[in-house]
Parts: sequence; C-alpha cells; structure tokens
Amino acid sequence: MECLFEKYLGVKIKGTERNLKEVFARFYSSDQHTKLWLRTLLQQTQLKSNSKSVTLRLEGNKHYLQHNFGESLQCYTKALCLATYDVGLIMSNRSALFFMTKHYQDCLSDIQHALRHDLPDRIKLKLLIRQVKCFAILQLEVELKNALDNTINFLSTYACADRDKAKCEIATAATIKDTARPKSVVKQIPSLKANDSFLFAASTIRLNYDKVRGRHVVAKQKLEVGDILFVEKPFVFAPIFNEKKELSVTRCYNCLKLIYSSIPCQECIKCIFCNEECRDNSWKEFHQWECRGMQSDLWYHLGIGFPALKGLIKGLPSGFCTLNSSYEADTVKFGDELDNYPYFNKLITNLSKMDDIIPITIIACVIVSYLKEYTNFFKSISLAEYTSHELITLVGARLIKHVAQLQCNSSVICAKFNNEDTVYTAEELPSLACGVYPSIGMMNHSCKPNIKIEYFGQVSVVKAAEEIYPDKEIFNCYGIDYRCEDKKTRQEHCQQLYFFTCNCEICNVSKT
Ligand SMILES: [Zn+2]
Ligand SMILES: [Zn+2]
Ligand SMILES: [Zn+2]
Repeated sequence: MECLFEKYLGVKIKGTERNLKEVFARFYSSDQHTKLWLRTLLQQTQLKSNSKSVTLRLEGNKHYLQHNFGESLQCYTKALCLATYDVGLIMSNRSALFFMTKHYQDCLSDIQHALRHDLPDRIKLKLLIRQVKCFAILQLEVELKNALDNTINFLSTYACADRDKAKCEIATAATIKDTARPKSVVKQIPSLKANDSFLFAASTIRLNYDKVRGRHVVAKQKLEVGDILFVEKPFVFAPIFNEKKELSVTRCYNCLKLIYSSIPCQECIKCIFCNEECRDNSWKEFHQWECRGMQSDLWYHLGIGFPALKGLIKGLPSGFCTLNSSYEADTVKFGDELDNYPYFNKLITNLSKMDDIIPITIIACVIVSYLKEYTNFFKSISLAEYTSHELITLVGARLIKHVAQLQCNSSVICAKFNNEDTVYTAEELPSLACGVYPSIGMMNHSCKPNIKIEYFGQVSVVKAAEEIYPDKEIFNCYGIDYRCEDKKTRQEHCQQLYFFTCNCEICNVSKT
C-alpha cells in the first residue's frame, strides 16, 4: 500500500462531507495506479493445497506427540483451512488432541465432522470408540447408549482383524470416567437494565448535548464502582491480521467467539468459523464479496478500509439511509436495534479538519475497483433509483466517509479469557478486531477515564471505575492508556488522531 501512496506524493485533496461524491468521481475516473496495484496484488492468489495441508497435519502430529498442544492445534487448524480432500483425517487427528487435553465437547464436534467424510474402517472405529468415551465422561446417558449401539453395529459390518479385542475396547470405553475433568466456567455477559431512549446503555445514564461538548454521556443518578453502563455488540467489526498476515486460529471469523473445533471457509485459507451456521451467515452478509480479496491478502493491506467496507455492506438493506436529525434529537432517541446504520452513518468524520484526504480516497478507490472487477457486488445490489455510474460514485463516497468515521470512532477489541483454559491460549493475539460501537462512542475523551471496558468476544461491557455523581460526565480514554504518557505526547495523540486539544482533568493540572 505504501508504494501506492507514494505514486500520489505531492497531490493533495481537501474534503468535506458534502463534496465526497465529486472528489471520488474525479479521482476514480483519472486514476490508473490503484487499478494496476490491485491487479498485481490479486494475481498472487493463495489457494487450498493438499500437499501443504498434509505437511501441516504431520507437523501437528509431531507437536502432539511432544505435548506441544498449542502448536499442534495451530497446525491442525491451518491444515484444515488448506485441505481439499483430507478433511476427515485432519478432524480425526484434531479430535485426538482435544481428547488428550480434555476438551470433550470440541472432540465430539470434530468426530461428528470427521465421520461425514470417507475414512478407512479402522479409523472410523477409533473415532466411534473415542465418541463413546466422550459421552461416558460427560455422563450423557442417552447419547452414550446411541453411540454404543452405533459402534457395536459398525463393528459387525466390517472385517475387523481382532474383533474380540475391539469388543473389549468398546465395553471399557463406555465405563470410562474422568474425575479430574475441568469444569468449563464460561463467564456470562452481564445484563443491563436497559435505557429506552439510548440503545445499549443502562437506564442510569443519559445522552446529553451542548455546543461545547457536543454529544456526551452523563450519570442520571449516583453510580457505584462496577456499575454496568453499556453492554454493546459492535455495529460492525473486522478481524485484525498478525504480522504474518494471518488471522487467529481460535476465534470465529463471524462472531469472534473463542472456538477450538472450528470449520474453515470453503474457498479461502484464512477464515474459520464456529459451525456451518456462522459460516453461512458470514457468507451471506459479507464474505461472498470479501473472500476473493482474502485469497490475495487485500484486506491485510487495506487496514481500516476493511471494517469500512463491512459498514457499507451493513447499510445495503436500508439503501444507505442517512439521518438528517440534529445532535440534540439524539438525546431523545439514539440507536435503532433493527437497523443501526443511520446512527453509525451519523458518527463524526473530522473530514474538514484533515489536511489531505488522498490516502482515504485511494483506499476507497481500491475497494470500489475490487468490488467492480472481481466480485458481483454491483450486479447483486439493487438500488433501482441509481444508474451503475451513480452507484459506483455513491459507494466510493460512502467508503471515504466510513473510513474517516472509523479512524475517529473505532475501538480495538482485545482478547479476554473467560475460562480457566490455558492449554491453547499461547497463540492468542492481544488485538482481535477493530469494531465500532455507536453508543459507547458517544462518551467524550479523558486521559483519566472514569470507566473500564471488558470484552466478551465481540461484546463490549463498560463499567464505572469510580463513583460518579448525578449529572457528572462519563469519560472514555480514546487511547490504550494515556496515563502512562506525558502531557505533551497525550496532547499530540489527541490532536493527530482525533483533532482536538485535550482539556481533561489531568491535562489541565499537570505541568509535564
Ligand atoms: Zn461463530
Ligand atoms: Zn473465504
Ligand atoms: Zn487529557
């Protein structure tokens, strides 16, 4: 991407929310560099490869034997993403790993997937016996009886070399116990006493507006430490890639849930899902248009352009609705559970404060060219009132706007472990995804915030970090933790990223 930006070194474009269509149309019609850059990038495609998959599966087996369980899981899951026809075998190997590490539900899930594929009878029998063991350990009586009957039936249908030994093994499997089985403690997402006029916020707080502070959040009553103020699912989020251009192998691409017995995308080699439902939902909503780019690392290069595209796609069903109401009206009602796009689309952009919007325009141009040349996006969206040229301009302008909005309104979703599991967690990425939370985003910044944020998968839970008195403002810190930085650095961050001079409690008094 840097080399593409360099092509436009010295060129500057100023933008406001009003002139984005003209800005985009002019740039898009004269630009050649982004189209060439895109073509070159998309020529390098990483496809599924059974030979690479076999290598990884064998590496997974090696790690398994050495009890390097985290590495073993990584290898198996990557092998699964690359596989074209060994899926059953990889699932079978991974189920052994899950059994060994006492992840019995994951083990069962992999066994069930594996059994749908063609496998040698000998391996099938192994899997059926492992399944019996899992049900016995989990003390699921009905499932155990069915699995036991199935296994005995299967044994009678094939030429097993040592039938008596197998019978004995099945009988033992049915009585196996695991008294040291770890109890899975999944922390529940806290619930909220909902606010009728402020979506995802507690009834103890409200959205306010004045000319100096803009929209901001205040306490309606005295808040105690630990009081829950927001429980919000992001309007949209996009997973973050690591420096090897990979995504987490333990997080569902669609819902961000921690998942070990994942299934891969059927087309690309990067995305994993909890189950078929998550995979189908993701495909229908976004992935049918992203998957081709995923195969060429396009989204890795586009950074914040990726969640911006997802935001745009979310606006499709409502025809990219815009709210023209005032900020004051938001204090009466903010957010719409069924379609929150208009509220997302109303978040501030700071476009008119930017010296130059050429980098954002380039990103929008890459995405539009990609959607047009490599997907059926423009053919499949039906917004009858626009010609195809108008639609391209509209989408391009919206993308510029959404990128600008994401730059000043998005949060990094961090990994937070909700259970005692330490077997596989070594590989976890601290930053999982970039998401937008329109309601939480209404809080103003302070370098010394009075709240704390915790993540449960994609859900963000905001709690009061100190006592907050009625009518006092509730502040978030826009950076990771500005309290570790000196005043000068903090002020620079606020100015460069968010275009304001911080005047918070500690910036006002501290001399450093
Ligand atoms: Zn999922
Ligand atoms: Zn895919
Ligand atoms: Zn400050």
